[in-house]
Amino acid sequence: MSKGFLLVLSGPSGSGKGTVSEALMNKRDDIVFSISATTRKPRPNEVNGENYFFLTHDEFEMMKKNGEFLESAFVHTNYYGTPKRFVMDEIEKGEIVLLEIDVQGALQIKKNYKEAVFIFLLPPTMDELRNRIVKRGTETEEDINTRFSNAFKELDFVGEYDFFVVNDEVENAVKDIEAIIAAERLRVKRHKDIKLSVMSKEGKKC
Ligand code: 5GP
Repeated sequence: MSKGFLLVLSGPSGSGKGTVSEALMNKRDDIVFSISATTRKPRPNEVNGENYFFLTHDEFEMMKKNGEFLESAFVHTNYYGTPKRFVMDEIEKGEIVLLEIDVQGALQIKKNYKEAVFIFLLPPTMDELRNRIVKRGTETEEDINTRFSNAFKELDFVGEYDFFVVNDEVENAVKDIEAIIAAERLRVKRHKDIKLSVMSKEGKKC
């Protein structure tokens, strides 16, 4: 069995990370989603423990102080963090763990987890990105402007990632990510005893 690994998906607000991750998760049962903690207020359709763990500033600070985050960052106007325990347990079980996080968080992971795979999701154009944020209708005018100007800064970090995927059509973006996963599954370093498994009666099961 191949080892589990972290699949880090970043991209500016409006690139469609949420939609793409959901479509990917619906299609596959070998990926688990890491639910982040945040101090952001829930949007009308969001459920605590499903979309995020919605915390107060004090609760977030306490988790951070106790070393319970794999990474954490201040994004736009709120704190976000990846709970460590869940991620480590799932990797141990051989799962692919999907982290939908910003570039600051991705850089922290890159420093500490050499075997993670980093994908940057791009909108087809920046005009389309702005349309998507506005159309979502969940942010104030001020928030929209913050997210849009942050999007330009985030694009500077695409060179830190292993792969980029353009989210023009969700279905195509998902296919691209699946191709990346398929290649990563075949990476020699993710397997033990390849020779031995080919020599066994059951064949390759490494
Ligand atoms: P939103 O408020 O739109 O749900 O997320 C805002 C940004 O925070 C997005 O770029 C999202 O990927 C990022 N984000 C969500 N969870 C985490 C996390 O646990 N860590 C970090 N660093 N960023 C996160």
